[in-house]
Amino acid sequence: MKQLLLLRYGEVGLKGRNRRYFENVLAGNIKKALWGLENCRVLQGHGRNFVEAPPEQMPVVLERLQKVFGLVSFSPVAVSGLSLADIKETALRELAKTARPGESFKVETKRANKRFPVKSPEVSREVGAYLLAHLPHLKVDVHAPLHRLAVEIRDREAYISAGSLPGPGGLPVGVSGRGLLLISGGIDSPVAGYLALKRGVTLEALHFHSPPFTSARAREKVVDLCRVLAGYGGRIMLHTARFTEIQKELRLKCPDRLQVTLMRRMMFRVAERLAAKRRALALFTGENLGQVASQTMESLAVIESVTNMPVLRPLIGFDKEEIVTLARRIGSFETSIRPYEDCCTVFLPDFPAIRPRPDEVEKAEAGLEVESLVAACLETVDRQEVTPDPAL
Ligand code: ATP
Ligand code: MG
Repeated sequence: MKQLLLLRYGEVGLKGRNRRYFENVLAGNIKKALWGLENCRVLQGHGRNFVEAPPEQMPVVLERLQKVFGLVSFSPVAVSGLSLADIKETALRELAKTARPGESFKVETKRANKRFPVKSPEVSREVGAYLLAHLPHLKVDVHAPLHRLAVEIRDREAYISAGSLPGPGGLPVGVSGRGLLLISGGIDSPVAGYLALKRGVTLEALHFHSPPFTSARAREKVVDLCRVLAGYGGRIMLHTARFTEIQKELRLKCPDRLQVTLMRRMMFRVAERLAAKRRALALFTGENLGQVASQTMESLAVIESVTNMPVLRPLIGFDKEEIVTLARRIGSFETSIRPYEDCCTVFLPDFPAIRPRPDEVEKAEAGLEVESLVAACLETVDRQEVTPDPAL
């Protein structure tokens, strides 16, 4: 038996060339997500995508498509022969799978094939009556039905579907340009990366580590977090920069209370240079407004003032609990809470400045060779392409 899955995408506000571009990127992402599944085909046309697969493969197909942004909903579609009797029987089978006693339904027919002898309203009526006769515990509601049974009459066959499942929404990864995510091993930045991907951004990631103060396992954790993100956006280029020398220099020459602010400024300087090299248009961080020293508005301002690039913070309106919930849902949480040290916690001062002032920060940096520290840090960047976990 053939089983189809109809994929719907959001098209609000999409016109002309934009729309074609959106559709092509999305179709490419769908194919990539289903890569390696045998007997599974993507059919594109008439502003819609179908996936054809054996019924037993559908659960895997659905699971993978749940990670393809741009898809708004899915409908399993049964294919029937082009006779009213066939259509009725298939409709009955499909509706019986989902409808519970007492629930309401409505039949909606679209007749793309005008040679089919029965007109749409009549098909709907006939099929509706048949369903009601065989499923008497259901009722018809033409205004606000719980189940919409869609019949689509095409040239060689009819498509019948009894409901839809929500997709992940968002925009197809690739349509919004490239961004550079500053990724730590924490809970927040992977979630920020997920939200950037959801808005169609092609992501690269940058992580700062401080060997020997941070361990190889701390770095492995970041690779694993990128792997989670790669499940949503396809392979991710992870850049790792050695931050040890900058941190030592800051420790040696700058006041304790400004360490966090100064480290962040250094990170942003390095990130901006790397972003320019990689043709990324913005930096993404997991920053949030909060009571920690680096995340007051004064602090965010002093930190971002070292770069001219847009700094986008997808989590700015989230509560911690909401971030944790999302981290669990996307599958990054368990990795994020592995206990390894991050470079920023290694040298954390006891009393960081909560509202650093631009003048005191600039004064603190006056004794540093900022330019050469940044250039030297950039020299240490190594990169690794992280692919999705094949088991997922
Ligand atoms: P996270 O959970 O992402 O670490 P956080 O709430 O702990 O966030 P901070 O540790 O203050 O906040 O970091 C703020 C942001 O700075 C992070 O979300 C991340 O974007 C960036 N960042 C922090 N540490 C690093 C690092 N070692 N490498 C790259 N980026 C980092
Ligand atoms: Mg952190």
